[in-house]
Amino acid sequence: MREVRVRFAPSPTGALHIGGVRTALYNYLLARKHNGTMILRIEDTDQSRYVPGAEEYIIKSLEWAGIQIDEGVGKGGSHAPYRQSERKEIYKQYAQKLVDEGNAYYAFDTEAELELMRERLKAQGDPNQQYSSNSRLQMKNSLTLSEAETQQKLNAGEPHVIRFKVPVNQEIYLTDLIRGEVVVNSSQVDDKVLMKSDGMPTYHLANVVDDYLMKISHVIRGEEWLPSAPLHVLLYQSLGWQNEMPQFAHLPLLLKPDGNGKLSKRDADKMGFPIFPLNWKDPATNELAVGYKEVGYLPEALINFLAFLGWNPGTEKEIFSLQELIDEFTIERIGKAGAKFDIHKAQWYNQHYLRSKNNSELASYLLEDLKKENIFCSQEKAEKIAHCLRERVSFPQELRLQSNFFFFAPTQFDEQVILKKWNADAAKLLLAYSTEIKAAKNLNAELAKIILDNTASQLGLKAGQILQVLRMILTGQGSGPDLMLSIEILGSEETTKRINYALQTITIK
Ligand code: GLU
Repeated sequence: MREVRVRFAPSPTGALHIGGVRTALYNYLLARKHNGTMILRIEDTDQSRYVPGAEEYIIKSLEWAGIQIDEGVGKGGSHAPYRQSERKEIYKQYAQKLVDEGNAYYAFDTEAELELMRERLKAQGDPNQQYSSNSRLQMKNSLTLSEAETQQKLNAGEPHVIRFKVPVNQEIYLTDLIRGEVVVNSSQVDDKVLMKSDGMPTYHLANVVDDYLMKISHVIRGEEWLPSAPLHVLLYQSLGWQNEMPQFAHLPLLLKPDGNGKLSKRDADKMGFPIFPLNWKDPATNELAVGYKEVGYLPEALINFLAFLGWNPGTEKEIFSLQELIDEFTIERIGKAGAKFDIHKAQWYNQHYLRSKNNSELASYLLEDLKKENIFCSQEKAEKIAHCLRERVSFPQELRLQSNFFFFAPTQFDEQVILKKWNADAAKLLLAYSTEIKAAKNLNAELAKIILDNTASQLGLKAGQILQVLRMILTGQGSGPDLMLSIEILGSEETTKRINYALQTITIK
């Protein structure tokens, strides 16, 4: 098998979409599986769409997701530079080669002339109205002008582009590893611009030249590029590189949760979930889009979730570490059908990965959040809280939210619970319980429970009678984590204090 060299080739036109992270991931999995090379190439030839900060954002996002780059922007390598804007001279050379060998031509048409062409073709009933073998001979280009005229225009610096001369009526065959055989007639392909008037190549030329020079073995990219693939095949052929052509794999679209159309940022915004891996502040509008990281997703959860958006292992197994994904991944197991984006599944993965962390790891999330609020908490207490809450959280920040009562005593109590459950017996039992708890040595959950049962039976009452009120006065909540464990964490002094506060403030009307 050919040495596996894959590339992730985003354009720095804004934040990296979550679909882009999936594309990068699939490339990465293939590279790692075959001890190959993962390349990051920045395709920044469209200067008009360049967004400052986008390149750094892409690099940071991949880093956070754990997708490691072996060669490329920010990393270097033997095929540098990896930023297309720094490779202008290279593309020029190949464009020239195409012109010299009759596979491309200079075109001098102005915008107005192109518009006239489209109108003319429209009037003739041509459905495509494109610059192609149908129209090229009516236009102002080096095919219709004499050599001398062309040279004169070039010498005079007249604005021009270089267009690809698509062969007439030729079947273009391409094997897509996901879609199978694709056959397109060249009449479907227009004479695409290869070099723009600003001297920059277009995506098509730069992409093909770089994939060839960088010895790319597999092009794994989104389905939206499938229509360009026949043109790319023709370019490989015209440049004499057909034997070095990479294999193509066009990934299925990411669909809205209901499967109805492509997932867009607007849909994600509307449904309240992120579309970008990290926070992104749009430099044009200053608008902040919150990222998966900041919402509390763990990279391993996002990776596992994204891997399954289009790929499956062919078994029931759903939990895969990155290494397991590398071991199991094959392009053949990527589906053709669009993948529905189900955020609940992402939450489910997050919950799984969060709960598989140990108490000390969970405690560090809590401690970090507490620190921001200048709330002190010992490592030991934070670990106990983590243990107590671990089955109730899906996101790290929920540890802080759900642990508030451990740091702040409730000051208000639910009227309904008081009306229903607060009576002379309850008050009597609570008073006795608080006295016993205060005297208890080495209070833990088990002891707290024994004391409660004993105190109740000594008074001829049942512990169950006060459980709801006890939870309410200790935590301020109607439901929550294990109550006895909560008492252990609060400690005897704080527990007693809270019960006594309730006994003093709650009066029955
Ligand atoms: N620059 C293209 C993009 O932004 C890359 C497409 C490809 O991988 O060929 O998606």
